Amino acid sequence: MATGVRDQIREVARSVVADLAEEVDRDGRWPKEGMRALGEAGLLGLMVGPEAGGHGAGMLELAVATEELGRVCGSTGLVFGMHCVASKVIDVRATDEQRRRYLEPMVAGDHVTSLALAEPGTGVHFYLPRATFRREGEGFVVNGHKSFVTSGGHADSFVASVVREDADLDPGTFSCLVVDDGTPGTSWANTWDGFGMRGNSSCSLVMDDASVPQTSLLGAEGDETWYLFEVVAPCFIVAMAGTYLGVAQGALDATIEHLRSRTYSHTGEALGASETLSHRLGEVWTAVERMRQLLYHAARSSDAGSPEGRAALFACKAEVADSATWAINEAMTLTGGRAYARNSMLGRALRDVRAAHIMSPSTDLLKTWLGRSLLDLPLL
Ligand SMILES: Cc1cc2nc3c(=O)[nH]c(=O)nc-3n(C[C@H](O)[C@H](O)[C@H](O)COP(=O)(O)OP(=O)(O)OC[C@H]3O[C@@H](n4cnc5c(N)ncnc54)[C@H](O)[C@@H]3O)c2cc1C
Repeated sequence: MATGVRDQIREVARSVVADLAEEVDRDGRWPKEGMRALGEAGLLGLMVGPEAGGHGAGMLELAVATEELGRVCGSTGLVFGMHCVASKVIDVRATDEQRRRYLEPMVAGDHVTSLALAEPGTGVHFYLPRATFRREGEGFVVNGHKSFVTSGGHADSFVASVVREDADLDPGTFSCLVVDDGTPGTSWANTWDGFGMRGNSSCSLVMDDASVPQTSLLGAEGDETWYLFEVVAPCFIVAMAGTYLGVAQGALDATIEHLRSRTYSHTGEALGASETLSHRLGEVWTAVERMRQLLYHAARSSDAGSPEGRAALFACKAEVADSATWAINEAMTLTGGRAYARNSMLGRALRDVRAAHIMSPSTDLLKTWLGRSLLDLPLL
């Protein structure tokens, strides 16, 4: 099944997304054409279960899909990846109404969703939301501030983490609500002008006595820790690792092309004829393949419910962040002055990949969680 998904995504990536990648980055604009094309191909329903007509894809397909998009445009990979994570969070315990309202429109290509977890107050510790909700009449009243919301101002809905106004603030004890864009009491506080991932539209969502129907609660209160570790974190890690692996693969593709096509006038030989350069290219390929194999292993283990899946998941995003940054930096050296030009493809890849370390769970948090899980210590 992963091969079928790869072919489908690759078709959209090559026919629509690739040509717009430079413009999306330069103008810092949300990749609407790519998302529309993915919708028309039925791929916004990738993680949606068959009950709502979706593909019901697993982690391996998610890894492959985000990798193929990241290979040509990091921003589109990230936007699509966040949609996939949030759609899975909605899908796992969807009510009939949630299925009709959110999941079926995704399958039809008419609904993009995203994740609103991070907050300015708790930063990278996304499992500590301070946004609150309380029951009032037929609905919930929500207050709080979410930061870096991917697809802010463009998606149709957002999965937001919130705590009950009177709840204990233990790590991981939050609920998820799906909030429609334009909900009364919500507003976007800033515009995104990123160093990289410039098409991501990571804006701040302010919820000021926002009124949300009670039907927007995902699962039951009390499901939260299960949501965090069984759905949100695994899907997020795989989608992000896939995207950044793809960015590194795109840099490797460009480097191979350059080493073949750039020739010296004094020797008539291609740059790649240099032993030093071919040796270094081999090292870059090895790094990219090493991260791919770890990610696929993590994704397969997670799909199989294997106990070793958890450690591999933590390791794979940290490994991708470290190795992709190294590999793209090397690719820039191998490709020389052309790569160092303003707005070059490799310059964009280098800027995009720096977000891999920062996006939560960040590399340091993942390595800490990995060590703690090996020692059978609680993660949080
Ligand atoms: C391009 C992009 C897209 C994003 N999209 C989304 C999205 O769609 N939804 C969403 O909810 N969030 C999103 N985020 C937010 C992201 O996941 C992080 O939560 C956010 O970037 C944290 O930023 P901060 O500056 O507040 O980090 P801080 O909390 O200030 O951390 C600063 C640094 O300190 C490190 N650090 C902090 N505490 C520890 C510790 N105990 N141990 C080790 N290191 C530590 C962090 O890893 C980080 O490197 C996005 C971020 C970016 C950059």
